[in-house]
Amino acid sequence: MTQQHTPMMQQFLKIKADYQNMLLFYRMGDFYELFFEDAKKAAALLDITLTQRGKSNGQPIPMAGIPYHAADNYLAKLVKQGLSVAICEQVEAAGASKGPVKREVVRIITPGTITEEALLDARNDNLLVALHGDEKSMALAYLSMGSGDFYVQRLTDTTTLLAQLSRLNPSELLISEDSRFLESLQDYNLQQRPPWDYDAESAFDKLTQLFKVHDLGGFDIDADDIVLPAAGALLQYIDHTQKVKLSHLKPPQVEHLHDYLHIDAQSRKNLEIDYHADNKDALTLCGFMDHCSTAMGSRLLRARLKQPLRDNRTLNQRLDLIDAFIKQAAYEDCQNQLKTIGDMQRMVSRISLKTARPRDLTGLKDALIAAKNIQQQLAATDHPILTDLSNTLTTHEDIVKHLQHAVKDNPPVVIRDGGVIADGFDEQLDELRTISTDAGQYLLDFETQAQKNTDIKNLKVGYNRVHGYYIEVSKQHSDSVPEHYIRRQTLKAVERYTTPELKEFEQKVLSSKEKALAYEKQLYHELLEYFSPFISDLQDTADLICDIDVACNLAAHAVLHNYCRPVLNQDIKIEIIQGRHPVVEHHLDSPFEANDLAMDHTRRMHMITGPNMGGKSTYMRQSALIVLLAKAGSFVPAKKAVIGDIDRIFTRIGAGDDLSRGRSTFMVEMSETATILHHAGQHSLVLMDEIGRGTSTYDGLSLAYACAMHLANENRALCLFATHYFELTELANELAGVINVHLTAVEHDNRIVFLHKVKKGAANQSYGIQVAALAGLPDKTLQQAKHYLTQLEQAETNSHTKQMSLFEQHSHEPVNEKPTAHEDYLRQLNPDELTPKQALDALYKTLDLMNKGS
Ligand code: ADP
Repeated sequence: MTQQHTPMMQQFLKIKADYQNMLLFYRMGDFYELFFEDAKKAAALLDITLTQRGKSNGQPIPMAGIPYHAADNYLAKLVKQGLSVAICEQVEAAGASKGPVKREVVRIITPGTITEEALLDARNDNLLVALHGDEKSMALAYLSMGSGDFYVQRLTDTTTLLAQLSRLNPSELLISEDSRFLESLQDYNLQQRPPWDYDAESAFDKLTQLFKVHDLGGFDIDADDIVLPAAGALLQYIDHTQKVKLSHLKPPQVEHLHDYLHIDAQSRKNLEIDYHADNKDALTLCGFMDHCSTAMGSRLLRARLKQPLRDNRTLNQRLDLIDAFIKQAAYEDCQNQLKTIGDMQRMVSRISLKTARPRDLTGLKDALIAAKNIQQQLAATDHPILTDLSNTLTTHEDIVKHLQHAVKDNPPVVIRDGGVIADGFDEQLDELRTISTDAGQYLLDFETQAQKNTDIKNLKVGYNRVHGYYIEVSKQHSDSVPEHYIRRQTLKAVERYTTPELKEFEQKVLSSKEKALAYEKQLYHELLEYFSPFISDLQDTADLICDIDVACNLAAHAVLHNYCRPVLNQDIKIEIIQGRHPVVEHHLDSPFEANDLAMDHTRRMHMITGPNMGGKSTYMRQSALIVLLAKAGSFVPAKKAVIGDIDRIFTRIGAGDDLSRGRSTFMVEMSETATILHHAGQHSLVLMDEIGRGTSTYDGLSLAYACAMHLANENRALCLFATHYFELTELANELAGVINVHLTAVEHDNRIVFLHKVKKGAANQSYGIQVAALAGLPDKTLQQAKHYLTQLEQAETNSHTKQMSLFEQHSHEPVNEKPTAHEDYLRQLNPDELTPKQALDALYKTLDLMNKGS
């Protein structure tokens, strides 16, 4: 088939064969062209014109192209959509050999390995993740090419795996072609890799070579560790796609999951930590808390909020730093400096990978100058934490000097056309440049001389790209040009000539320009090499600046929004005085009502009742978010907060149908509840909102009741349990550790006014109809509803009394008539042996049977 193609198309097909599952950008002059299916895909995704070129099997070949200088924008769009692109360049000058210009794939751009500023989301980490193992024993390895951070973790259940993946939000997830997880992880951007990429032995060799160590014990990794294959797969993938030396990669850190406060994927969503249904970042906890001055600081802050810690020592260090910045009022000055620092982490990575652009170098210089200023500001305070920090911050003055000397102040975006290396940095470059810059004067002198010699006043010297330098003379003077003038071009009114002298000059200028450019590129490369020994130190400086940025941001936030420093201890306890919801309090027209919370082993479960819209969910969520903020090392929106050792936060809060997976609201609700009942422990904080809502009243009530019992008796978790079943408030009388609280509301002029105040005891009214009135239900409907409500309440009182007497009678006395179904059922029960829950179940079952019988 290929024989029917032009030699160029044959070359394309040959290269494309090696890059089947990605787009191939095939360089042709000033364009990258895409052909066949790639062209159709790109045209649709990038909104570019689909044209055609030549024929294949008698059919026109679809083609789409993008100008090479605008490639970054298009690549950014493609990687955002999870696609990879192979960049195929012309690797020799046109006409250097027979046939089509030689071309090669020089780089593969994949969503998880990119480091280019234009292609990356500045405030979120871009992670490449590899998974290895099965349902019982698995490992994740992940790294950020932008920062060089490299982590591994061991996992033993899929719930935790899914929670981790939702936290990491991988740009690409590498998974073995024979992995058992292939089906269940289809929502991720999966890259299926051959099983041999996961070979533990070669992973061990690769890691030991890369980090120049004998074994991996120092990194807490054994020779047969389950994390090895995952880590190996990562390195293998980078080798395959990037073809670079990973000299900026930091040694792998093992993340022990018990060191962190665990939040499952659904709870992360429910608490709107980094997700909002309307895609509004500002309404998420991360978006709201993040006003960091640098993008790298934002990434660190968001990573901390997404993975709170249990280690109070580290948390107290973070809090101490915030405290110090507040006490010394030092954060504003620091923030002014931080704003000029840019994304030093990613700049350093690009310098190390030798993909840095000229402005990464000037950016690094500016960052280090600002770091020096910050160092001086910190040293000038009289707070030991800040002065210590100032001593730890290395500001690399030698590098700054070197950069000032080597790079022009406002260099062009790319090195391609030169003009980056500063004058005076290299003598040879200066010399080559002088020849071409001096050309202007030479030509002026040459022109004046030629005018004099020929006596032709309007003789001009000019230049064009095709003919080079020429002498131009109008037609009427063409007879008087000297003999040694050689004709080059005849135009309508003028003749153009050259002379051996001008030709020689041209050669010298052009070759010196070319030479200067080639030499400048070489110097640029050497300049990048210069940084090799300093990469790790520069990374440390960048990381420390991130810490400072996050602390300044949290200090400013705490002062502005009146947050307090939480007290952390190891108890099973949460005590919050006047807590507020960090995000909701800023989106209300009316003032936010602060509320207290006190949970410990004597008050483990709070049964929360109150009207719809009364503030139950807000109260529960704010409690979880205050715990989370404290465990991320931030001040919290409260007057006082004492936070014990919380290991997990679970939430079961309303959800829509997950119809794409064929699960109804009720199924989703129950499976989430099951997860909580299986995993919550004494140190867990559980939020249960309106459980049982998704099914019929009796089912729902029974389930809610059973879950509450289980959580209180078996899990013994700290639990906020909001419910509209007033029956559950009875639990406070039956079980130790359960208390009732309610959200208050008052009726005024037949309208409900929510007070949003949490009070002791159970609510006594649900105000459903009043809430419906607020929602704008027509008056007539509301009146009807009120009427039915009165009737129902009456009927329920009657049936309840009847029910109780039936229960009493039928369980003890023999009956002569043929018993009805409910009588039959009741007779089998011995009320003395029933637990409260079974009694309640029995009552409802009886009611059910009675309803069916009547
Ligand atoms: P519920 O869960 O009881 O139905 P929500 O927690 O959803 O009620 O609260 C309903 C609305 O009431 C919120 O959207 C918010 O506008 C307001 N609200 C909730 N709590 C407070 C509070 N403590 N102070 C002021 N307004 C509040």
